Amino acid sequence: MTLFPDMCEAVLGESIIGRARSANLVEINCHDIRSYSKDKHRHVDDYTYGGGAGMIMQPGPIFDCFEDICEKSGTRPYCIYMSPQGRVFDQSMTVEFSKLPNLAILCGHYEGVDERIIEEIVDEEISIGDFVLTGGELPALMVADAVSRLLPGVLAGEESYKDESHFSGLLEYPQYTRPPQFHGREVPELLLSGHSANIAKWRRRQSLLRTLKRRPDMLPKAGLSQGDMKILGELCAEESKKIKE
Ligand code: SAM
Repeated sequence: MTLFPDMCEAVLGESIIGRARSANLVEINCHDIRSYSKDKHRHVDDYTYGGGAGMIMQPGPIFDCFEDICEKSGTRPYCIYMSPQGRVFDQSMTVEFSKLPNLAILCGHYEGVDERIIEEIVDEEISIGDFVLTGGELPALMVADAVSRLLPGVLAGEESYKDESHFSGLLEYPQYTRPPQFHGREVPELLLSGHSANIAKWRRRQSLLRTLKRRPDMLPKAGLSQGDMKILGELCAEESKKIKE
């Protein structure tokens, strides 16, 4: 539900999500809130009661838009409002949302929406981070993209996202493609060996190292094995040795 359906369509019609939509692996509809305005000038916003800068989106058109979605789909979708005041979006939430039969996303604009529409139809407010954008379209597109790519058939296979950063609680290992030499930099030799067990070990170690260096806050929640803990111990020792040198 947006005031800018064309902006959303432009993004969701491209690349992997565009192809998934064409193949009916995911259905995404961009609903124009303005078309539910009862005003002859198609207004959907008004001044804030009590005064203050900016306009607020009125509850009526949003409510009618949501009702229409419920009626046409024959169900009441879980409804999220993109808001800088919400729960901060992360990979575990993409998994959560991908299991829902459907999801309605409300995009605010201007100074946001009338509080009563949140009370009336919104199940949860979701933020994409501690900063403020002009509208909820970019956040909604991020959610739609991140959730859609987990749906069956959208990517080549589950392994396409299971190894990726955040899915398993770690950051992904470094990756390389041809050519084997670039500006004097070589691809790590082990990756050219074809020895899959050793490559898997190297990748796990690199994932642990990257997470340790870049996002140590993720490690306590990563569900690490005893083997991982042993590698982490070695990596910490190596890193502190480098610092001392
Ligand atoms: N007045 C609101 C406040 O202070 O909480 C901010 C309104 S913001 C300018 C306009 C719209 O952009 C919001 O209604 C929301 O839909 C969207 N938005 C802005 N920042 C966002 C964020 N970090 N995450 C999700 N949505 C955001």
